Amino acid sequence: MQPIYSTCGHCEYCLTGRENLCPNKQVTGETVDGGYAEYVLADADYVYKVPSSIDPETSSPLFCPGITAYGAVKKASLSPGKTAYVVGIGGVGHMVVQMAKLYGARVVGVSTSKEHQELALKVGADEVVDPGKDYSRVTPKVADSVIVFSPSQMAIDASLRLVKPGGTVVIGVNGDLRQFAFGDEVTVRGTVVGTRQDMKEVLQLAAQGKIRVEATKFPLKQANEVLKKLKNGQINGRAVLIPRSSQPEFLNFSDDFFSVPVRPYFLEGVGQLPFRVYQKRGALGRAGGAKYPV
Ligand SMILES: [Zn+2]
Repeated sequence: MQPIYSTCGHCEYCLTGRENLCPNKQVTGETVDGGYAEYVLADADYVYKVPSSIDPETSSPLFCPGITAYGAVKKASLSPGKTAYVVGIGGVGHMVVQMAKLYGARVVGVSTSKEHQELALKVGADEVVDPGKDYSRVTPKVADSVIVFSPSQMAIDASLRLVKPGGTVVIGVNGDLRQFAFGDEVTVRGTVVGTRQDMKEVLQLAAQGKIRVEATKFPLKQANEVLKKLKNGQINGRAVLIPRSSQPEFLNFSDDFFSVPVRPYFLEGVGQLPFRVYQKRGALGRAGGAKYPV
């Protein structure tokens, strides 16, 4: 399951391939119960089959940071020969670096953390930049595209300085565009997760070995300690919580939903999402059809 738990299926966004913008969508762990549990209920239309070549535990973050990075990179107008700056090399940022490389762009990682700079290089960044604690050391107007996932106003300000006239800034965090200058004709875009088709493509890229997740596993019972580490920036990449049960089991809850025992969860701030679902053997989705997006 990815963050989108369900959508209405008939609004202008659902009908035009932008279901992530559906005003009636339900979000796993936010508007409906999510993880930090051994079981979760899911709508059959919104679960995914995980390719067997992917390690089910460490690749769980594909289902939020992975698809979030994918949605952002698709909006960043990248192509071979272009230079992309990735501001913030955390759980999402280290996926953005890998996906931007797939477009043939030169990718520069920007982070104030030594560990995160090393992570950027490890996953394929051509170069890293330490912008200084206050982001005062960034060189202006050097990036064709800037992708920002660092949740800081200084990072957003720095991104608007980094971008070249006519370039694109894709922002996946909240903040103000107080340094926006219309005269440079910069395109600024927001981005939020992605569609079921995007998720399917992310899984294919992972199955082909083109992207991978940097993740550390912890037992579910250590959730509170791990959240503390996350808050203090002591997690490199993503943390994955592994519930005690390692064997899939199935429960039958209703005709409309089937149970999806989920084992590992990954931590996304204070939210969490199940990472792997197991379809109940013989279960049919809603309306009696197996309409799994896989
Ligand atoms: Zn809709």
